[in-house]
Amino acid sequence: MFFEFTVSTPSKTALVDITEKIEECIKKSNIKEGRCFIFIPHTTAGIIINENYDPSVVKDIINTLEKLIPWSASYSHTEGNAPAHIKSTILGNQVVAFIQNGRLKLGTWQGIFLAEFDGPRVRKVWVDIIGN
Ligand code: ZN
Repeated sequence: MFFEFTVSTPSKTALVDITEKIEECIKKSNIKEGRCFIFIPHTTAGIIINENYDPSVVKDIINTLEKLIPWSASYSHTEGNAPAHIKSTILGNQVVAFIQNGRLKLGTWQGIFLAEFDGPRVRKVWVDIIGN
């Protein structure tokens, strides 16, 4: 069952926790056991699974990516957002998660994040839920 929702990102770079939005899709699907494919149809944003408990983790991820792929370096892409494309490529644009008892089955500290690298913008997220 296919779902689409949008996320308004707050700043140029941000990791936005979308775990609850994915849970809502699973609830609507009424699928109790299966898999959930989450895909972002954008070239300057990504999807990751990482810790959503201690917010310092998100800060460190963002800061380290900024150091590795700085906005100030020189790039060929004339649109001016090459670092956002590169960060999106490194993180990836999709994740798969398991569904058990009608809920996401994630590790204790894990959450699903939309990774914004060229915001603020309104981003689409596509979710396909497949039952066993
Ligand atoms: Zn571009």
